[in-house]
Amino acid sequence: MANKDYYEILGVDKKASEDEIKSAYRKLAKKYHPDVNKEPSAATKFKEINEAYEVLGDQKKRDNYDQYGSAEGAPNFNDFFGGGGGFSGNFSGGFSDIFSDIFSAFGGGGGKTRIMEKGEDINLQMTISFEEAAFGCSKQIIINRNEKCGQCNGTGAKDGKEFSTCNECQGSGRVRYTQNTLFGTTIREGVCKSCNGSGKIIKQKCGTCSGRGYSKNKSTITINVPAGIDNDQILKMQGQGNAPAREGINGDLNIKINVLPHKVLVRKGIDITLDLYLPYTTLILGGKVDIPIVGGLYELTISELTQSGTVMRLKNKGIKMLKREAFGDMLIIVKAEFPKVLDKKTKEIIKSLQKENTDNLFPKYKKFNDSKK
Ligand SMILES: [Zn+2]
Ligand SMILES: [Zn+2]
Repeated sequence: MANKDYYEILGVDKKASEDEIKSAYRKLAKKYHPDVNKEPSAATKFKEINEAYEVLGDQKKRDNYDQYGSAEGAPNFNDFFGGGGGFSGNFSGGFSDIFSDIFSAFGGGGGKTRIMEKGEDINLQMTISFEEAAFGCSKQIIINRNEKCGQCNGTGAKDGKEFSTCNECQGSGRVRYTQNTLFGTTIREGVCKSCNGSGKIIKQKCGTCSGRGYSKNKSTITINVPAGIDNDQILKMQGQGNAPAREGINGDLNIKINVLPHKVLVRKGIDITLDLYLPYTTLILGGKVDIPIVGGLYELTISELTQSGTVMRLKNKGIKMLKREAFGDMLIIVKAEFPKVLDKKTKEIIKSLQKENTDNLFPKYKKFNDSKK
């Protein structure tokens, strides 16, 4: 990947503007999209184009690439194409919205090659409790977003009818223009200035949205958080973001999850750990102790002479896996706690115990002592 010329792949100049790169990318993506282009090489080409745009479409990565001639430090592209990691469907691990960009170029348009626009994404954070993350929950939030005007069906024209097709671009929203450069005449495509890329000339504006085609609305959205979600994971709700300024598809609503810590339970992926400190006498004599687990209490049996540091495993008492009906484990690390103060009576009892203790009662200690001989 290091030595590919991304500019050549996209057919743009090294000094191309962001818009020129985006436009070139969209044109090529449309041409080589496997759904459209049935040539065997199209898929490879399509992948190459996306690879190039992933770098050149991002100013930081582009700067890196310009400077070092490689895309080192760019994300692993296989993530985008191999389906590795993340989730499926409406649920994504927070990848770039590059796919939405591609598909938006095909989102209808009545047969004409109109470029569809995608509205802006809305990015939010949501804090939930440990238990809500473990069991899943449903939350309602209010978001202020641009929504398509129902009065004019997003056209911006009165009753959705009072417009005509732009003569300049025949409704495509794009025009080709020639440019004379030092290297000759080039043909470029750009947004039609007559209609601002909408393909329409509004004769009478819609009164509800003042011709914009959308308006800001407060909407209540129900968020279904799946059981097993973890800190910093992103719930992607496709199409729940802002409506675009012109015809097109809605942006997405991305909700970054922040899980509050539990008082004593610590989550590690789907497993849960608990550092359980018990009086040293309980470890010697054994006993029963109620411990918190996900969603309740569990009566744990400590057998006689449990060593400090023993790890007890409760199978399937951990967190549910996101995509499967499978559960992690609960790991209890049992540790001896000694008194912080030593009264006279206790000291006497311990002293008398000490006298009776022989090395043979403590095999590890004995081994250690033997090693010094
Ligand atoms: Zn036009
Ligand atoms: Zn309207």
